[in-house]
Amino acid sequence: MMDFIHKSISKEIESALKQAGNVVIITHINPDGDAIGSSLGLYHYLKSAGKAVHVITPNSYPAFLHWLPGNSEILEFNQAYAKAKKLISEADILFHLDFNDPGRMDAMKDHVSKNSKATKILIDHHPKPVAFNDIEISDIRASSTAELVFYLIKALNGKLLTDRTICECLFTGIMTDTGCFSFNSSLPSTYQAVASIMESGIDKDRIYNLVYNNFSEARMKLLGYGLDKKMKVINQYHTAFISLSEEELKKYNFNTGDSEGFVNFPLSIKGIRFSALFLEKKDHVKISFRSHGNFPVNEFSAKHFNGGGHLNAAGGESYHSLDDTIKMFISLLPEYNNWLM
Ligand code: 5GP
Ligand code: MN
Repeated sequence: MMDFIHKSISKEIESALKQAGNVVIITHINPDGDAIGSSLGLYHYLKSAGKAVHVITPNSYPAFLHWLPGNSEILEFNQAYAKAKKLISEADILFHLDFNDPGRMDAMKDHVSKNSKATKILIDHHPKPVAFNDIEISDIRASSTAELVFYLIKALNGKLLTDRTICECLFTGIMTDTGCFSFNSSLPSTYQAVASIMESGIDKDRIYNLVYNNFSEARMKLLGYGLDKKMKVINQYHTAFISLSEEELKKYNFNTGDSEGFVNFPLSIKGIRFSALFLEKKDHVKISFRSHGNFPVNEFSAKHFNGGGHLNAAGGESYHSLDDTIKMFISLLPEYNNWLM
């Protein structure tokens, strides 16, 4: 069994919780399945433990996560600004879930740093967290933040892991952050957590269908268009990328989450080790990077595209035009020849 949660840390969290009235859980901008699944899993646990608890996200998240129990209780900072600010100011504990840098809170960052006296607790699996928390559970070996939340709950009060609501949320986080157990999922700890989660009686197939078989026709056509017309393969550097302009996204009626998973497809081409997806937004280009093997896309993204993430899955942003961003990306590849060959 992995020692994700040291006894001294769970004791510290236990005693912080004992003294706390109000708890707020915050996750990162553009929340994904792990961000929402881990946050709601912890939310339901803390509620069962009798705490006043709220989840706040910096912005909206994909519709394929809206079925999760507790979804309607989540506040989006850019929508429920006044209420979210008040909750953050009054919180005794702030849990920071699934991010390693306060910048990932976007506009919430300033409010948290200026107006919160809360004990800040990090639960995350990204490398090298910036020091902005009082208590840290940070482990890159974990498949997901949801897996770490599972082991934290187990350490605090394992009896509540029979609760199906908590387990549905945690399963969603683990399933989505491992691409249905295809990556970041080589340790027994993940399956030990999932085995215990299954004991709660969750319907795994239902969850899979709600997350992955829930897309619009336009989204499938956008994927087809992206792969057929907009994917460029650069065999020399074992690299492939897809780019989509604002106009193209509009034509396919783009909604948050529609491009989820697109960046993984080029990696299925034999020989491709590095993949990127460029999405043109109103005032920036949002980029996703993926790699096979040991090419560190988080470092690549941090160095050139104001981003970060994991070794094999990272994201970033560019403030140049879509065309210039792509030109810059291509011009960087020779520098990484040794990694990509
Ligand atoms: P995705 O490509 O799915 O948006 O993100 C993949 C990984 O990169 C996630 O772990 C996410 O947290 C991280 N990531 C995505 N965008 C950014 C970004 O702009 N900045 C940083 N630091 N990390 C990002
Ligand atoms: Mn995650």
